[in-house]
Amino acid sequence: MHYLVDYHVHTDNSFDSNARMEDYCRRAIEIGLKEIAFTEHFDLNPKDKGLGYFNFEDYSEEIEKCREMFGDRLKIKKGLELGEPHLYLEEHESFLRDKDFDFLLGSVHFIGERVLHREYAPDEDEREVYLEYFEQVLETARKGNYHSLGHLDVLKRYVPKRFKKFYASQYQEIVREILTAVINRSRGIEINTSCFRQGLGEPLPTIEIIKWYKELGGQIITIGTDAHHVRHLGQGLNEGMEILKDLGFKGFYTFTQGEPHLVKF
Ligand SMILES: [Zn+2]
Ligand SMILES: [Zn+2]
Repeated sequence: MHYLVDYHVHTDNSFDSNARMEDYCRRAIEIGLKEIAFTEHFDLNPKDKGLGYFNFEDYSEEIEKCREMFGDRLKIKKGLELGEPHLYLEEHESFLRDKDFDFLLGSVHFIGERVLHREYAPDEDEREVYLEYFEQVLETARKGNYHSLGHLDVLKRYVPKRFKKFYASQYQEIVREILTAVINRSRGIEINTSCFRQGLGEPLPTIEIIKWYKELGGQIITIGTDAHHVRHLGQGLNEGMEILKDLGFKGFYTFTQGEPHLVKF
C-alpha cells in the first residue's frame, strides 16, 4: 500500500472547525494514513473571523498528547495555514521565530477587506475579479512565508454563478508568474483535494496549472484534503496522487521542521 499523507487538516484549534485532533488521529490510522499535518488557520486580517483564535500553547499541548498516544503508528506534524502571508511579513516572522512548526501553508482568503466568499456586486467583471485575486497570490508567492502555496485557484469555488467556468488558460500569464516565483524560492504548491468532495470534479489548482508547474521545473508538491470534519480526512488523496503520477511527478513532499522530503511513488 502506498505511503498516504494528509497535509491540510483543520481541528477545533481553527475557528471554523469543531473536529477533535484525537478523533482525526484515530481515523487516520483506521484509513491507513502514515502522516498527518494539522494546518490550523492563523489569520491577522482585521475582518477575518479567525483573528486571534489560534492558541499556540493549547495546540502544542494537544499535538504532544496525540504524539504520545498515536506516535508509534502515525507521524503527526505541526503546521499552520497562514492567511495572506505577503501582508503580514513581520508579524509572521516574529510569531514563528521561536516555534517548532514543521509545515506552513500560505493561502489567500481575502482581497483587501473582502473575503473571497463574499456577495459580488452585479456589475463586477469576471476577469477583473480573478486578476485581483491572482495579484494577491503572486505577492504571497514572491514575498510571503510559506512552504507550500495553498489552494492556488480557490476563488473559482466562490465566484457568482453568472461567471463562466474557470479556465486557467485565460490567466496563464499571471499564473505562470506565480509558479515561477514559487520555484525560484524553492517552495512548493499544494494539490488540495477538497474540490472532489464538493463535486467540482477537479482539484485545486486545476490540472492545467499543475502541468505548467511541472513544465517550469516545479517539483515540490504537497497533498491535502482541507478537512474541517473527521469524515473529510483522506478524501480524494488517491485521485490527487493519480493526477501527479500521470503528469510525471516522481512523488509528493512531506516536511519536518521546514525541511522538504520527497516521498516517491
Ligand atoms: Zn484555505
Ligand atoms: Zn484550510
